Amino acid sequence: MHTAGVTDVAFPESICHRCVYLRLVTSGKGSQFLMCRNPALPKYPPQPVRSCVGFTAKA
Ligand code: SF4
Repeated sequence: MHTAGVTDVAFPESICHRCVYLRLVTSGKGSQFLMCRNPALPKYPPQPVRSCVGFTAKA
């Protein structure tokens, strides 16, 4: 049984959640990781990201 709901999101304050490059990854243990798919940037930037040169807002 999960203690955290699946709708709980890691680092809700991160601007990555509003960026087209974000991919949310959930581990087998249920931990959530914010993966960046912008090829010019590290896959796992230190969170929470508050400003980013690659930020591209979702439509
Ligand atoms: S480009 Fe920047 S803001 Fe967008 S997901 Fe990657 S790290 Fe986050």
